[in-house]
Amino acid sequence: MSEKQKFYITTPIYYPSGNPHIGHCYTTLACDCVSRMKRMQGYDVMFLTGTDEHGQKIEKKAQEAGVTPKQYVDEIVANFKKLWARLGITYDRFIRTTDDYHVEAVQNIFKTLYDKGYIYKSEYKGKYCTPCESFWTESQLVDGKCPDCGREVTDASEEAYFFKLSEFGPRLKELLLDEEKNFLNPKTRVNEMISNFIDPGLQDLCVSRTSFKWGIPVTFDEKHVVYVWVDALSNYITALGYMNDAHNDFDKYWPADVHVMAKEIVRFHSLIWPALLMALDVPLPKKIYGHGWITFGGGKMSKSSGNVIDPFILADRYGVDALRYHLLREMPYGSDCPYNNEMMFNRINSDLANDLGNLVSRTVAMAVKYFDGTLPVEKEFTDADNDLLTQLSELPSFVEENYESFHIADALERIFRVIARANKYIDENEPWVLAKDETRKPRLAAVLYNLLDAVRRCTILLSPVMPNTAPAIYEQIGASEANTRWEDASVEKMLPADVTVKKGPVLFPRIDIEKELAELEAMNKPARQLPEEPLKELTKFDNFASLDLRAVKVLSCENVPKSDKLLKFIVDDGFGERQVLSGIAKYYKPEDLIGKTLAMIVNLEPRKMMGFESNGMIMSVRDGDKFRVVEFPDDIKPGADIS
Ligand SMILES: [Zn+2]
Repeated sequence: MSEKQKFYITTPIYYPSGNPHIGHCYTTLACDCVSRMKRMQGYDVMFLTGTDEHGQKIEKKAQEAGVTPKQYVDEIVANFKKLWARLGITYDRFIRTTDDYHVEAVQNIFKTLYDKGYIYKSEYKGKYCTPCESFWTESQLVDGKCPDCGREVTDASEEAYFFKLSEFGPRLKELLLDEEKNFLNPKTRVNEMISNFIDPGLQDLCVSRTSFKWGIPVTFDEKHVVYVWVDALSNYITALGYMNDAHNDFDKYWPADVHVMAKEIVRFHSLIWPALLMALDVPLPKKIYGHGWITFGGGKMSKSSGNVIDPFILADRYGVDALRYHLLREMPYGSDCPYNNEMMFNRINSDLANDLGNLVSRTVAMAVKYFDGTLPVEKEFTDADNDLLTQLSELPSFVEENYESFHIADALERIFRVIARANKYIDENEPWVLAKDETRKPRLAAVLYNLLDAVRRCTILLSPVMPNTAPAIYEQIGASEANTRWEDASVEKMLPADVTVKKGPVLFPRIDIEKELAELEAMNKPARQLPEEPLKELTKFDNFASLDLRAVKVLSCENVPKSDKLLKFIVDDGFGERQVLSGIAKYYKPEDLIGKTLAMIVNLEPRKMMGFESNGMIMSVRDGDKFRVVEFPDDIKPGADIS
């Protein structure tokens, strides 16, 4: 192309309430694959990813961890970046919604929408799910619970600003039904959006909160912070410099060519995001694609080893490219993909070790054995080559279209069908038979040349998925920069006629599946956690003997008024009744303890607590951040001594 065309692709910004895991990987890998192909095709690519760092959930998590929200997200965002580096993700820009320029731009956007009359102040009433930070209408609840997570919801209301989403129904429906624009993919989601959300009537959207502080303040009403939508979705334009000065390529890259995401946020991107842009008078993105989820479970191994899915560990043990290949190969277009390690090992062994790895190593080994590594120029090509060559010539356009439309698994499946065809070509042409007959050397050279050239062409097409493996293969088959550009996959016989091969290390070692599963399982055993209280110093036996430890039976138990910690007991110590207090009200209801036989120190000096005298101490054991009483079977008699 004469002038470089631009290609702007985005992942959603991820919510760093916890560390990244394998579930975060697919979207980012898919975007990376398409970005790499587009760069090879000569596009000026902008690949954006980032993190969505505000909200009540992060505020709470930070509080629990005893750090500020910013400190909390800083640490997790660093881990996201580490993971993307480990997986070879070639993003061009990383946006954090706590970045100053984004904060400023969101404030400008919010004010603009307010000034234009698209945002107004009202009161929000609804059922609220705290973990999801979502208000729901009665009709959206499932069995009275949050439709997203199934947790209890509570009645809540607060003063809030609203975005007039309800006004955009007709325009959104037109957008979604526009065959030519083909805005929302896969197509199956179009109906879902229209019949579930647009046709019943879109509700105005609550776009501010007063119930928490960790967000971008509304400039003209400081009690409010901007609630998720305007803050998070606008990252796709603020990252380019929309309404801020940090970047200056909005005109160059916008509109986005594609926003990629998992299916649960398709609704926000196909309804709320276009409506916000319409209100701002900004052109709409060209496409959005919502893929399925990686799901866990299944396979014959035990549950615990199936859960060793730390992407760092998998990349270290089996190679980044194997992990990239597996995830991109398994996720079918638009639907879910189960993950377990055994499936990945089978995939690596069959596709990568057997089919691709063997094709390369056999072909190179034969070229070394029969021709000392350099093929003779004289070759005899025949019609027996045609089927392989036809399959190779049909491959590039199919792969290109399918990568671009995120049918990445289909593209990979097709590439490996051609690799299998090449392996069959070896068996059909029996090079080891040709090698025995001196007069057939030109035919033998042609067969090996066709195989090397097939490897070259398939590897170019695989390189966006396996960027580390491709150069290693090129080196072995004698390919160079001059014949491994993207467009070179469409051209046959580009290797030099006297190509020289070079044996290299095994590309994908076979995995001993049983052994690896066992090792992963062993790694999965949690490390021993030290108890909170260090061991105390030695003491005299007499000190111990001076304590009178007894089993006691609980006769009555009640809460102490005005104390949320204390329970008041009357216990039978075998000699009579006594009153004792214990600070375990947070962990037990009084009625649960009545009739139980517990362990107690009975000869402690009396103490006054909240106005009541306590005669002794009920023994309990720490269980994480709670305490549990030490309990004996019912047939232990009150007063039995403990030693
Ligand atoms: Zn929920």
